[in-house]
Amino acid sequence: MSYKAEYIWIDGTEPTALLRSKTRILADGAEPPVWGFDGSSTNQAEGHASDRVLRPVFTCPDPIRGGASLLVLCEVEEIDGAPHASNTRASLRGVAEQFADQESWFGIEQEYTFFKGSRPLGFPDGGFPAPQGPYYCGVGADAIFGREIVELHLDRCLAAGLAVSGINAEVMPGQWEFQIGPAGPLEVADHMWIARWLLYRTAEEFGVEATLDAKPARGDWNGAGAHTNFSTKAMREGYDAIITACEALGEGDKPMEHVSQYGVGIESRLTGAHETAPWNKYSYGVSDRGASVRIPWQVEVEKKGYIEDRRPNANVDPYVVTRLLVNTCCAALEK
Ligand code: ADP
Ligand code: MN
Ligand code: MN
Ligand code: MN
Ligand code: MN
Repeated sequence: MSYKAEYIWIDGTEPTALLRSKTRILADGAEPPVWGFDGSSTNQAEGHASDRVLRPVFTCPDPIRGGASLLVLCEVEEIDGAPHASNTRASLRGVAEQFADQESWFGIEQEYTFFKGSRPLGFPDGGFPAPQGPYYCGVGADAIFGREIVELHLDRCLAAGLAVSGINAEVMPGQWEFQIGPAGPLEVADHMWIARWLLYRTAEEFGVEATLDAKPARGDWNGAGAHTNFSTKAMREGYDAIITACEALGEGDKPMEHVSQYGVGIESRLTGAHETAPWNKYSYGVSDRGASVRIPWQVEVEKKGYIEDRRPNANVDPYVVTRLLVNTCCAALEK
């Protein structure tokens, strides 16, 4: 007997990487081995030396194929075993290990938008829907577009064993959110990439495209973000650590270092309108959805908990945002 393993990896497409996958048939009980692929077709190699290596790093049940089938998330390596330049997970591994004793947790809110053809799902042909208002967490056919896809995606994330913690309809028609976490940096990011793959794969069955574009509709429509909620053990136990983390994110070059790696098109989304802070002006505040970093109200009341970095775009690389937050905040908390 045999089973199907879907090898999934992140490619080298600029400026935002795409997900790729291919299937391998394995003997029952066999661990998914290291595999290879044609890197010249994914912007990860030149044609004359095109072999690149897929190293399995996280596996879970494949909720689409069922049975013994697996999804196999891989890191991409050069043939000598060095991480490929596109492999951002490798740099996260080092930082996560360096600060492991601080026990970082993340909850990432992944916003995304369904498109049918060139229009967001729910946008009428040649016109615009009623302005934002009834869509966020709405109900009814006049407000909600794509729920059957969203429900199937949620069921598949759960069946795969991912740390999904919720879903909601967003403020623009056809725009939705799911959350992964709380979980450690590598786990939250691995689960996020698999959840993204399941989202594209599920929407594909409906002839719909899911996009992480940060500003999918021009005009008075919200962009799509990936608010990243973050805590360390010290932050979960006391308020001084919460403030230390918020201050560390504002120090010196830190705001630019973060924002420049928080996803493509950050200026188009972080305008200062639509529940955002301007991309070039760092701020933090309690309950403030117009700040770069929000301290949730109950965290201020309880004097412990977590912070929400509201800046990352929907198209951010979760390996990068978790690395930056651990690196900046844990270094400051160590002092
Ligand atoms: P919002 O109110 O901003 O819409 P959500 O409920 O969508 O917030 O997402 C909050 C996320 O924060 C969830 O994924 C949740 O699991 C995560 N979270 C909760 N507590 C913590 C914590 N202590 N550290 C990190 N993340 C946390
Ligand atoms: Mn071939
Ligand atoms: Mn949310
Ligand atoms: Mn949201
Ligand atoms: Mn949020």
